[in-house]
Amino acid sequence: MADRAFMYCPLCRDGGSPTIELMRDNVDFFCLMGHKLPHARMLALNPDMIKTEIRFKPGPNDVKVEVWVNREVYGKTQDALGERWHPTIASLIRCCMAGEPVIIDGQQAAELRKLGIRNGQEMLATAKLNVDLSSQNEDLVAKVNEWENRFKDALQGV
Ligand SMILES: [Zn+2]
Repeated sequence: MADRAFMYCPLCRDGGSPTIELMRDNVDFFCLMGHKLPHARMLALNPDMIKTEIRFKPGPNDVKVEVWVNREVYGKTQDALGERWHPTIASLIRCCMAGEPVIIDGQQAAELRKLGIRNGQEMLATAKLNVDLSSQNEDLVAKVNEWENRFKDALQGV
């Protein structure tokens, strides 16, 4: 079931067509030109919102939910996200479908961005690389220790 995302495709925008509309299903955003990305990855590309009179026309399968949230926090998130507030919160709720999502807060997210990591896929790739490098490092340390012991033995043998 596809619904309007009320955003323009950022990939089409980068290709020179800024007004190709994005649709969404439970997993991906996609456009008529064949671009298709998971929600978080598409949102990471900062899609432009479609400005409409009724900004958030719910899809036929959408329900309105109530969430208790601190008044000040609510205001700050609206200020921070502007027109992306609704699609961002809706995507966060969808992220919870598979169980416990990994939530990265503003400070951590900013530090990750400084390192060039913009989404979960890149985080996972970095973590896997770290595991590989750690095991390579252990192998190298073991080799150095082995050589040190050989030198020690050789020196003691003199
Ligand atoms: Zn597109």
